[in-house]
Amino acid sequence: MLSEMGRSYGRMIAKEVMSMAPDPEIVLKVLEGLASAAGWGQVDVRGDLRKGEVIEVFIRNCAFCSDGEQSQESRCHFIAGVTAGVAGEAFNAEFKASEHECMRKGGSRCVIALERE
Ligand SMILES: [Zn+2]
Repeated sequence: MLSEMGRSYGRMIAKEVMSMAPDPEIVLKVLEGLASAAGWGQVDVRGDLRKGEVIEVFIRNCAFCSDGEQSQESRCHFIAGVTAGVAGEAFNAEFKASEHECMRKGGSRCVIALERE
């Protein structure tokens, strides 16, 4: 599963960052930079990054979904998995990622909501 791969990748990144800066807010900001550097799109993490109760990840020009094709299947599972993994590690909890909006489904961007499980 792509999302499972993403999740362990996200946890790995977060562990690395947490060892240098044990602050969830910083970890999630690093994720934004990393995602852009990796060419996944312009990632913007919003929400209460101190407590991590409600987190939303906005992706503009999502590399996985902005190919112009429309379908019922979104392609941002990988990013969703990565963000869930990063948040999980940062807040020491399990997060469920769900796509609220997706460019493949006609959205203007992809929006992934992270909720504690
Ligand atoms: Zn998408």
